[in-house]
Amino acid sequence: MNSIFLDRYRRSEYTGSNRCLPCTLVNTIIAVVIANTAFICLLRLNYRPAHAAIAAVAMLGIAAIQIWLRGYLIPGTPRLTRRYFPPWVLRAFGKEPFVIDGGRAESDLDVEHHLEAANAVTSADTAANIELTDSFAEAWRSAIEDIASVDSAVRDVFDVDGVVQVDDTDRSVRVSLDSRPFGRWVSRAALLADLGAGRVFADQYDAWPEASTAERGQLLGGLRRHIAICPMCAAETTFDAATVTGCCGDVRVGIVSCGDCGVRLYEVPLEGGPTTEGWS
Ligand SMILES: [Zn+2]
Repeated sequence: MNSIFLDRYRRSEYTGSNRCLPCTLVNTIIAVVIANTAFICLLRLNYRPAHAAIAAVAMLGIAAIQIWLRGYLIPGTPRLTRRYFPPWVLRAFGKEPFVIDGGRAESDLDVEHHLEAANAVTSADTAANIELTDSFAEAWRSAIEDIASVDSAVRDVFDVDGVVQVDDTDRSVRVSLDSRPFGRWVSRAALLADLGAGRVFADQYDAWPEASTAERGQLLGGLRRHIAICPMCAAETTFDAATVTGCCGDVRVGIVSCGDCGVRLYEVPLEGGPTTEGWS
């Protein structure tokens, strides 16, 4: 069901692919308890059982719509969930309470090999030593500047068809294709960086046309992970570790950001997964 009214009420950051299952479960239980309590209270107040049942069912219905459209019934549930749900429960729900990148589909693509073959990075013995080649860095910057339409660049670069929608939220930029989630990037700069890089790969890497959409995402994410120079302003990037509070947990992440303009360019979970901060 789609309408302007529903879309206005809907909180996309808590629903759809962003829905937090532990929070939804907690809220559903709370709704059932409230409706049940109301039913009992109404009976004690001498309402007829049929009337009390209708009132309780109506309350449940309203709560269900609220949870469906907004993700939560009770404001602040994420904090409660984070506090009272042990980490293994959150993991069992596949909870990954932070934003990561556009292309991270599982595959055994050798990203470093392709980046080298495309002449995007200099050969290095370890992934940590990877550096962009000057020629690629230059082509990349001008490709970013040349992006006139994000929509058509998304279709080109990822070789997909459909209506592209880009939404900026607090900690990420979401791209959907024909109203279905397509990818998430840590920032608009990260998305633009990938679109620019994709254009450069298309120009100068023979293997690019054969790469699948997921592989393209991986290559672009892999490239962005190693950038030492901000693709937006050409200043040097910095790497910092930070604790990010997501919907249902705190995680330690490594963040590549620009030392000058400050845009976040890449975010990766550090070893150990979710920290236990916030659970006691
Ligand atoms: Zn910058």
